[in-house]
Amino acid sequence: MIFILLGPPGAGKGTYSSKLIDIYKIPQISTGDILRANVKEGTDLGRQAKDYMDKGLLVPDELIVALIEDRIQEKDCKPGFLLDGFPRTVEQADALEFIFKKNKLTLDKVVNIIVEKDVLFKRLIGRRMCKNCGGNYNVNTLPPKVEGKCDKCGGELYQRTDDQPATIENRLSVYDKQTSPLIAYYRKKNMLADIQASSGSIDDIVKNISEAVGKK
Ligand code: AMP
Repeated sequence: MIFILLGPPGAGKGTYSSKLIDIYKIPQISTGDILRANVKEGTDLGRQAKDYMDKGLLVPDELIVALIEDRIQEKDCKPGFLLDGFPRTVEQADALEFIFKKNKLTLDKVVNIIVEKDVLFKRLIGRRMCKNCGGNYNVNTLPPKVEGKCDKCGGELYQRTDDQPATIENRLSVYDKQTSPLIAYYRKKNMLADIQASSGSIDDIVKNISEAVGKK
């Protein structure tokens, strides 16, 4: 199974992905996580991406497309994979289609996660991430068992630099301008399933997503 989770920052893509990978037994490919790991390790890619990320802007398409093309060739992607945070522009979606054709891969579904803007803002402000394993938490909606510590690995939780109010505004407007055209793009190709996620439990939303994606 190969599918995309499309949705604005704060829609919960990372949270749903961590449950969906257990259901489908496929890896999650999060371009945001890969970029953050590169920034942490100080690689060339990390150095090129950091400024864009800190400002809430998109990293240039050519960097991201090369990263994805390499990642999906890895062995763990044989049974399929879940794309979280990619594609984010029409140019990336066109490049993905080209890469899939070249590698004889078929995209099964694109899930459009719909969340109201004021809910997104609240979620992003409350979001915390584990420094060690990248686990997602939220001080309001998904608190860790012990304040400031990751439930899974005990790592220290932190607030991402791009989860500060001014940068959040930027990221939401970047989504509207550059990423939301992908909704019409995939709807036209009959690939899109809309999932409402402004309210409801995480488990219910994950169930709705997996029903929309189906089983192979
Ligand atoms: P995320 O964790 O998905 O919110 O991504 C964090 C940041 O990484 C974004 O604000 C962008 O700067 C960058 N990024 C992640 N995925 C992409 C992508 N597909 N295209 C361009 N930039 C990206």
